Amino acid sequence: METSVDYIIVGLGLAGIAMVEELKRQEKTFVVYEDSSQTSSLVAGGMYNPVILKRFTPVWNAKEQLDVAIPFYLSLEKELSASFDQPLDIYRTFKTIEEQNNWFIASDKPALQEYMHPELVKVEANHVVAPYQAGRVRHTGRIRVRELVSAYREYLKENGQLIEETFRHDRILTWDTHIEYKNRTAGRIVFCEGNGLKNNPFFKKLPLNGTKGELLTIHAPDLKLHDIIKSAVFVLPLGNDLYKVGATFNWADKTNVPTQEGRKELEDKLKTVITCDYKIVEHEAGVRPTTGDRRPLLGVHKDNHRLVLFNGLGTRGVMIAPLMAKKLYQCIENNQALDREIDISRFKQKN
Ligand SMILES: Cc1cc2nc3c(=O)[nH]c(=O)nc-3n(C[C@H](O)[C@H](O)[C@H](O)COP(=O)(O)OP(=O)(O)OC[C@H]3O[C@@H](n4cnc5c(N)ncnc54)[C@H](O)[C@@H]3O)c2cc1C
Repeated sequence: METSVDYIIVGLGLAGIAMVEELKRQEKTFVVYEDSSQTSSLVAGGMYNPVILKRFTPVWNAKEQLDVAIPFYLSLEKELSASFDQPLDIYRTFKTIEEQNNWFIASDKPALQEYMHPELVKVEANHVVAPYQAGRVRHTGRIRVRELVSAYREYLKENGQLIEETFRHDRILTWDTHIEYKNRTAGRIVFCEGNGLKNNPFFKKLPLNGTKGELLTIHAPDLKLHDIIKSAVFVLPLGNDLYKVGATFNWADKTNVPTQEGRKELEDKLKTVITCDYKIVEHEAGVRPTTGDRRPLLGVHKDNHRLVLFNGLGTRGVMIAPLMAKKLYQCIENNQALDREIDISRFKQKN
């Protein structure tokens, strides 16, 4: 029997969840396909942080993103009766006087004053290497993304809105008035496939690079760290003396498989950040959907307005996904132009 929905969504990571939430808000009907082929959202550290801590520059559109993202996650907490937002300070430790000076200079800039605390702080943990103290970033924290994705999948499954299988692009039929896919009809399909975009014949020429990242979870009972440390790696408290440590950046390998090299790199760097003993309890990997120009890939296919792309969330999906879902919805349903820097039409020849 044929069923009809307004939208088919392909992929239920952070992009898919943000899109579905927007559709629900707008009282649209939908069904989601998810095949567990990508792991980026599942393994993500989940940090939100408005400052790029390598260069001490603001994240693109940080305020607009945070203004939408935090209420978004709080409303999901209510909806799913679970806790996802873990507000935590981030301490950027300094290894030299020069780094300290750079922090002072940056924290004085109007775009950063709101986020970078101007005074130096001592890290309140015994085993953290911070010879020149640390700078504290405000409006930061962590979303428990794995828990969120799992709870959201469960919730959609209970409502009969999740189909756990691979979406087959070659099975799409386009008619004047709708799309047909297997036993369903839909007004539109939104592809939220992360690095799975490579298998999507409609959009695969777009420049999604994909950057693999690996993370460790360690058990370190002596560390007693209550906030996030950012140094050669970040160390992120999960509770019960567990910490996530990450992440690597690898542009060559596009698999979700953890490697010995990744583990060694993280352990070598971790040695320069903490001095206490620890045990590795988990080692994970995923491919971030990164783009060359570090901007999302949103928009409608140039030859078929029923096919829509929501991708390119890069290294900061937590902050950026909720705002992008709103912009994409307004573009599709109300013809509001996307900003050029996020619209796939900036790569005219490629889709
Ligand atoms: C190691 C690491 C650490 C990170 N840390 C952070 C962090 O601290 N903060 C932050 O904001 N971001 C972080 N990120 C980035 C963040 O994970 C991404 O920006 C975000 O998860 C991307 O979400 P997405 O939904 O676009 O893609 P994905 O999470 O990859 O979701 C795509 C989904 O589509 C599904 N899919 C694909 N093709 C098909 C198909 N044909 N049929 C059915 N289903 C399909 C996949 O199974 C997958 O579930 C990190 C990433 C990594 C790898």
